[in-house]
Amino acid sequence: MRECGLSEESLFSFLLSKRQEDVDHAHIMSSMCTVPHPVAVRAHLEFMETNLGDPGLFPGTASLERLLVERLGTLYHLPGACGYATSGGTESNIQALRMARQLAGRERPNVVIPESAHFSFQKACDILCLEMRTVPLCSDLRMDPVAAAEMIDRNTCCMVGIAGTTEYGMADPIRDLAKIAGDLGVYFHVDAAFGGMVLPFLDGAPVFDFSLPGVSSIAVDPHKMGMSTIPAGVLLVRDSESLCSLSVDTPYLTVKQEFTLSGTRPGASVVGALAVLEYLGVEGMRDIVAGCMKNTRRLIDGMETYGIPRAATPDVNVATFAPARIPPPWKVSWTRKGHLRLVCMPHVHAGVVESFLKDIGEENA
Ligand code: PLP
Repeated sequence: MRECGLSEESLFSFLLSKRQEDVDHAHIMSSMCTVPHPVAVRAHLEFMETNLGDPGLFPGTASLERLLVERLGTLYHLPGACGYATSGGTESNIQALRMARQLAGRERPNVVIPESAHFSFQKACDILCLEMRTVPLCSDLRMDPVAAAEMIDRNTCCMVGIAGTTEYGMADPIRDLAKIAGDLGVYFHVDAAFGGMVLPFLDGAPVFDFSLPGVSSIAVDPHKMGMSTIPAGVLLVRDSESLCSLSVDTPYLTVKQEFTLSGTRPGASVVGALAVLEYLGVEGMRDIVAGCMKNTRRLIDGMETYGIPRAATPDVNVATFAPARIPPPWKVSWTRKGHLRLVCMPHVHAGVVESFLKDIGEENA
């Protein structure tokens, strides 16, 4: 540390010079996060010093976390769902697998997970000492339910399905998977970290939620398509007993037990997440999601007119293509199979898509 502190002016001049080195969102086509909605920013600033890890000190903020869980539970057809705000999809997935392992009580537990799963499941399996069984995908890039059923045995504590895959934006056949899980009595976790704030607002989208009796838990990230500030994830659970299986005693806090992974937890971004939902309502979310999907389709059409074919027709706003040359300053990403991957988040509006297409057209002419 410095012996003597900096003046506020020099400090902020240094900090903001570093901020200038970050990529401007105007050119970010690779991220599943976005510029937060103004009401999320306002709520975040108002709740900056709140700590959900000690809810007895912040009962008002804690009630807003409960309201967020209730709103999302209702959106997913289980108003009484329980759950809590996590730091994002990684924590939600770790906690879901932890619950499943706890409930199954097997000596050498395994989990059955699609090849397309986010790498957070590798972390979860590593931390929790779970054998990870990887299910191949069908030709449409969705998890093969027949192969999944064959991989389940008496030591399987959890099966996972993805509603909106990170790389190709596909929804697994959650209905079929939920049926298999229900029939075999296996815990079924749906990772809807991305799709959970997209699919409910699209007409004719595949069903992935608690309306399917086999679904045990759902991960959804308001800090992705929910336009909250970071960090804001939510883990929703059908049955409160599952969540209680994670409880530990917390003798020095205002509550005597907690089931969360982190102790100290920000209220700011959690209230930010709720603020966006309350402000936009279903109607507002439908408009935003419709815009993102329209831009995704336009991007796919535009790229194909340049002879750059799509790799998949996605269920959510993630577009993938055969490799192409990308001029600076655009920031794109690449899938493990080598496809170009672009995410049409709310900051990637129609004008951004057109200017990206123009640059790609010139670069690949
Ligand atoms: N699950 C899915 C489907 C994701 O796309 C991601 C991140 O992109 C995660 C989980 C992990 O989320 P986080 O980075 O918020 O921990």
